[in-house]
Amino acid sequence: MSAMTRRSFVGLAAVCAVGAGVGGLGTAFAQGDELLRPPGGQDERALRSACLKCDRCRSVCPTDAISLASVEDGLVSARTPKLDFHKGYCDFCGKCIQVCPTGALRSFDETREKLGVAVVQKDRCLSYFQGCNACEDSCAFGALSFSQGHPVIDGGLCNGCGQCEYECTALVYGTFAGGTRRGIVVLPPQAAAALGGTLVDGASE
Ligand code: SF4
Ligand code: SF4
Ligand code: SF4
Repeated sequence: MSAMTRRSFVGLAAVCAVGAGVGGLGTAFAQGDELLRPPGGQDERALRSACLKCDRCRSVCPTDAISLASVEDGLVSARTPKLDFHKGYCDFCGKCIQVCPTGALRSFDETREKLGVAVVQKDRCLSYFQGCNACEDSCAFGALSFSQGHPVIDGGLCNGCGQCEYECTALVYGTFAGGTRRGIVVLPPQAAAALGGTLVDGASE
């Protein structure tokens, strides 16, 4: 990040956390069984039927971008892999696909396919309050630009890699509020499409 440092947000975060509820994106946008899956797992039905819950994909991911779904994500999905961009983002190394023994994660072309689509949450994005630009240089796919001081996502170019969410300075804010809040978040393609745009106003739970 350039104009501001993560540390500089701590004071703001402490203040904001007082009124912030724990929950966040997953809760706010969860649509039943819609989870953000590792590359090649976007066909939800196919993944569920083929996944052995063997944990190999999560174990091999060098960026820690994969976590395990919990029972809160649905009993059928529990312990299947999902993406969590709080700890890392996907660099499309393909290792999870290589180790998957069943083909639950099939081949994936990040230039044509999407893990998800990034959405800016206007009520959480610190650019609207503090002039934050932490995510400005995070996108390697030309999908994120800044306009009038705020991030703008090109939903057509975004492949859902999660680097912008990972870099989001609201991470500090989120840490105080339970680790779930970001100013920018990647949603599964269907969930993002249902929003009708990549800028959401007042999305808090
Ligand atoms: S492609 Fe690589 S970085 Fe992405 S989720 Fe799989 S193992 Fe992790
Ligand atoms: S490696 Fe394949 S079968 Fe094993 S948990 Fe991951 S997706 Fe499921
Ligand atoms: S998730 Fe963010 S960093 Fe990744 S392609 Fe989309 S806008 Fe760019």
